[in-house]
Amino acid sequence: MALLELDNVSVSYGRIEALHGISLTVNEGEVVALIGANGAGKTTTMRAISGIRTLSQGRISFNGEDISRLRADLRVVRGLCQSPEGRQIFPGMTVLENLDMGAYTRRDSAGVAADLDRVLTLFPRLAERRKQAGGTLSGGEQQMLAVGRALMSRPKLLLLDEPSMGLAPMVIRQIFDIITEINQQQGITILLVEQNAQQALSRAHRGYVLETGRIVKEGSGQDLLTDPAVKEAYLGVS
Ligand code: ATP
Repeated sequence: MALLELDNVSVSYGRIEALHGISLTVNEGEVVALIGANGAGKTTTMRAISGIRTLSQGRISFNGEDISRLRADLRVVRGLCQSPEGRQIFPGMTVLENLDMGAYTRRDSAGVAADLDRVLTLFPRLAERRKQAGGTLSGGEQQMLAVGRALMSRPKLLLLDEPSMGLAPMVIRQIFDIITEINQQQGITILLVEQNAQQALSRAHRGYVLETGRIVKEGSGQDLLTDPAVKEAYLGVS
């Protein structure tokens, strides 16, 4: 069943249209990767889905409901949560306080406590550093904190914007291992945007290629990984 559906979505910044009528689907239980070069519109797509940017055309539905005009905070309550590009954790707050912030829309304190345990088990590094200020964590740890914080909202759909950005290859693998685990063990559906097409496509069930605001290709992660044009443009081999 389609959990998220974008139908002919356009988004403009002033007079410049950044997305020109894109359509994509994320089914329940899937990991879907959106890949594309700098400026292709990946972040804009995520902002449209999370409600930070309004649409100039088209429709977004989530869990069978038209959310095209729904406020961003209410989308979080519905189960749609974005872990933003550039991490954007709260640097002056401790790891635990940052994680608590992720649960700010929730009223079920027992469920929140259980999810906190779950997140600290998933990220032992964060458990060790629970009292440390977020701003003093390493880049990889901050990325883990951003993902952990997003999980605290107990999302149905987790949006990840460039989870590998700025990280060393070994940390990138760890982050993707955790993404796979979140999907397989907790059943959370994931849409991720990546410049690291190799990792993203090898972990994703399906992928879409975005070029200058248009979807130009879609397929299974494996099909895209072996597609000659994708290889040449995004995987650094010809
Ligand atoms: P990157 O991989 O470099 O982060 P991206 O695929 O995420 O790129 P977007 O950030 O979505 O790309 O940008 C898509 C287009 O929209 C670009 O041409 C960009 O210059 C433009 N754009 C993005 N944000 C704004 C803004 N606030 N005002 C004007 N134009 C913008």
